[in-house]
Amino acid sequence: MKAALILITLLFSGSNAFVFSQEKPLKIMMIGAHPDDCDIKAGGTAALFVAMGHEVKFLSVTNGDAGHMEMGGGMLAKRRYDETQEVAKRLGISYDVLDNHDGELLPTLEIRLDVIRKIREWDADVVISHRSNDYHPDHRYTGILVQDAAFMVGVPNIAADTPPLRKNPVFLYYQDHFQKPNPFEPDIAIDITAVIDKKIDAFDAHVSQFYEWLPWIANDPDRSRKEQRPVKPGSNPSELQPRIQQS
Ligand SMILES: [Zn+2]
Repeated sequence: MKAALILITLLFSGSNAFVFSQEKPLKIMMIGAHPDDCDIKAGGTAALFVAMGHEVKFLSVTNGDAGHMEMGGGMLAKRRYDETQEVAKRLGISYDVLDNHDGELLPTLEIRLDVIRKIREWDADVVISHRSNDYHPDHRYTGILVQDAAFMVGVPNIAADTPPLRKNPVFLYYQDHFQKPNPFEPDIAIDITAVIDKKIDAFDAHVSQFYEWLPWIANDPDRSRKEQRPVKPGSNPSELQPRIQQS
């Protein structure tokens, strides 16, 4: 694990000779519970990877069909999916969404197999996801699903319809603020100052989230207007981390 962490550190260290000497781009996969989690937790890191010539995919394990105060179900899921595709364009990535209900995710075998297939199909070199101690059950169970997929991606008889990986990707966790039962301990810090506008631009594409649902659930009507820009970096420490720490 330590060698893998050093590798990632080198990738972000400005060692261009190292980065450009690679024969093929790295395949990065970021996995979140909802259609906005990857953007919130690692949108800046994704933009940096893309700028270095690597390939990034975001995967949302639920379809986001519950998180809204006025709409829900298939109509909301469709809207959320369209927003992810706009983010994909803005960041230069691809963005997949699994059709599991928002707010009802469980770490089932069926969904674990879907996650295994997605990691294999992307041929991921690096996978980043939630830790499994989080306030939101969907985040927790996404962390469990990815953790449970981590070894199985190389086992041929599991999800046998999709060829196994012949390498094991580096699995990393997003930064978070949870203290119990285990506080987050950063091993890698990434300065996203150079791409912060790209990250905010990705937030801006999630109209149903950043201008509607998140202000409403936070009981912040002043932000519930589309003409307003998304939250400023650092103004919501539970989701946006200091620039040198976060992604
Ligand atoms: Zn979420």
